Amino acid sequence: MSEPGDPAWLSHPFDDDKLREECGVYGVLGVDDAANYVALGLHALQHRGQEAAGIVSYSPETGFNAVRRIGYVRDNFTKLSVMELLPGRLAMGHTRYSTAGGKGGAALRDVQPLYADFAMGGCAIAHNGNLTNADSLRAQLIERGSIFQSTSDTECIVHLMARSIQKTIPDRMKDALRMVEGAFSVIAMTRTKMIGVRDPLGVRPLVLGRYGTAWILSSETCALDIIGAEFVREIEPGELVIITKDGVESHHPFETGKSRFCIFEYVYFSRPDSLIGGLSVYEARRRIGMELAREAPVEADIVCAVPDSGTPAAIGYSQESGIPYTMGIIRNQYVGRTFIEPTEQIRDMGVRLKLNVNRAVVEGKRVVLVDDSVVRGTTSRKIKDMILAAGAAEVHFRIASPPTRWSCFYGVDTPEREKLLASAMTEDEMCANLGMNSLRFVSLDGLYRACGYTAGRNGKSPQFCDACFSGDYPIDPSDARACGKIKEVVRA
Ligand code: SF4
Repeated sequence: MSEPGDPAWLSHPFDDDKLREECGVYGVLGVDDAANYVALGLHALQHRGQEAAGIVSYSPETGFNAVRRIGYVRDNFTKLSVMELLPGRLAMGHTRYSTAGGKGGAALRDVQPLYADFAMGGCAIAHNGNLTNADSLRAQLIERGSIFQSTSDTECIVHLMARSIQKTIPDRMKDALRMVEGAFSVIAMTRTKMIGVRDPLGVRPLVLGRYGTAWILSSETCALDIIGAEFVREIEPGELVIITKDGVESHHPFETGKSRFCIFEYVYFSRPDSLIGGLSVYEARRRIGMELAREAPVEADIVCAVPDSGTPAAIGYSQESGIPYTMGIIRNQYVGRTFIEPTEQIRDMGVRLKLNVNRAVVEGKRVVLVDDSVVRGTTSRKIKDMILAAGAAEVHFRIASPPTRWSCFYGVDTPEREKLLASAMTEDEMCANLGMNSLRFVSLDGLYRACGYTAGRNGKSPQFCDACFSGDYPIDPSDARACGKIKEVVRA
């Protein structure tokens, strides 16, 4: 059990029935005090990881400097005394939720950006995603003499770069990344360059922005908005960009396949005010709600969201069905890391600390309850109990994603397959298990339609990664297969 002050507790005190997001990366080249902009960018990306954050900067006078801390960006990177340690016009950072390496109890040694000195100069590197062959690479590297300092899969990239015979850091990075498998959006910096690269299928996001004459790399567009930067474009799947004060050079070092962007970014991970593939995440979620209303209508009096992630889909459900949307559940925005200590008694209160039912709204009503996903189902059951205890007549549960049946190996922390409610139960069984009056999930085709593909999922060549719903893994999860975490791999 986690103790007070333990980041496992701080990061998800009452919310462990969700898939955990990956990480956020952010870099700025070409503006004074670049680290200040990075801190703001990481703050906007805090939803992608709350365990720890780090910033590395470079200035010709002081060289590379790094600050890595456990906890939220706002608690660690707002003091002048800290930001003064990070001078220069080039800086990058990372906000972390551990999907590989030490989980649930962030160790400082695992906090990124990682830093390495090569013969041709220093390099900082940060990664969003997960390498599916990191275990086997690590074993090979250790056998050949590499000494690892962290448990992070990202360190494999550093060691592979060290072994490359190429003359420049970008070329060494290309060599290294050709040997890794999995999902990665990586940013790196040398004394004069910022590098951004996405894996060949572009599973994880990475965008390019412009702030005056400065360049920005960011996991999401919402973190461009916070500093008033313009969105320029997405880094393409399999593209590596080298950014200097003179501009952006684009390289394509990998054989790229067809893009398989993570569809769960639309469902839950990304912020609703971000744009992905030209589509607003909010709009995609609203459309999922509309699809749900068409696919799974029900006679009811009000539509409520499980806030905040279910809200856009609940609005869409309401708009399409004509059933009024109401704030039947209120979220306390201030349940944070400074809250009371996690005694057993407080733990038992669980979801009540974060969510409360608005009795005046739900009493006597037939409620459509909309959430983004069901993982273990523990929170859903509690919320339903609270709604019924507040006097609701019926609870009809509508889920803005298909049943989550498979684990993710691409940078999202999912429980083992057996713990996913949908892996062992049919929809009817889940409905009975959760004690709902009815339960329906949006279809996979409905989800694709909402995300811009009007003809739905192309079964022969799916447009997204949807492995957690379909079991169709676009990248072989080789480490997971080797250790028996996954036995079958479905292919489209
Ligand atoms: S398995 Fe699911 S969560 Fe993981 S990358 Fe694919 S769609 Fe996203």
